[in-house]
Amino acid sequence: MEYPNFHDRDGFIWFDGELIPWREANLHVLSHGLHYASSVFEGERAYNGKIFKLREHSQRLIDSASALEMDIPFSVEALDEATQKTVEANGLANCYVRPVAWKGSEQMGVINTQGNTHVAIATWPWDYISAEVWGKGLRLCEARYRKMSNECFPATVKAAGLYTVNTLNKNQAQRKGYDDALVLGSRGKIAESTSANIFLVIDGKLHTPIPDCFLNGITRQTVIKLAASEGIEVMERDIEPNELAAASEVFLTGTAVELTPVSQIDFEEKHFKFTVGGPVENRLVDAFRELTGMVAKAATV
Ligand code: PMP
Repeated sequence: MEYPNFHDRDGFIWFDGELIPWREANLHVLSHGLHYASSVFEGERAYNGKIFKLREHSQRLIDSASALEMDIPFSVEALDEATQKTVEANGLANCYVRPVAWKGSEQMGVINTQGNTHVAIATWPWDYISAEVWGKGLRLCEARYRKMSNECFPATVKAAGLYTVNTLNKNQAQRKGYDDALVLGSRGKIAESTSANIFLVIDGKLHTPIPDCFLNGITRQTVIKLAASEGIEVMERDIEPNELAAASEVFLTGTAVELTPVSQIDFEEKHFKFTVGGPVENRLVDAFRELTGMVAKAATV
């Protein structure tokens, strides 16, 4: 079976301060980030050549690194410039962008106080949710593993280590025939999906969990602001899984998924169903599209 690969491609990757040919952006197997997950990353999206909320993403990369005691040797301005340059060098206008920072091969063993933090930035076109899937809405099942709490890890940062849990939950969901998983926090409340935040519409109002054990997504924050300007009330609160019964619409938000409807969540033998292309979601999709330039994915928008 032939797999698409991410190493054998044309283009350029920004690597520790310079743009280099895509195929040369390699690192050694004895890299701390690979063995001990001293690695943080970002996911960004360029619309019509402009990276949405670039400054917020660059700052989040620096903050995530700092939470793992890694110092990124570039300023936020330098990261912004490098990211924009990477998109331009690859001749892309609408694309996903992946900055990543990690500790390298200067040190082996659990401690990672020696050596620099390395940074690379890659970009590629990524239609993460196809129009077909978007139009039907995602089907989610109950995740096998819960989120870690802040007592166990700085759980609200974008650290690669946390994605071990997300990957296991996503793999399991897809094996069972679902698109994604509904992940609970350690206290058993609704948290998010494996790579996006979640919103419920109950009686015309938006309800979303407090980001205390998961990433406070930049798209999530954007949607909350858009809802306010649309006159839609937003409630950030603890949400029990059985409250899904009261939701008329559910959607996910994230840089990759953008704003994607959920049609069904199966949880503890219950099948919760939601309207795809409902009134609240439609208004927010329109507002989000106007703000970002997101392409229309279905006839509902
Ligand atoms: N939660 C997780 C686990 C994610 O990977 C992402 C995507 N970065 C999000 C939430 C949404 O964050 P954002 O809107 O900043 O992309």
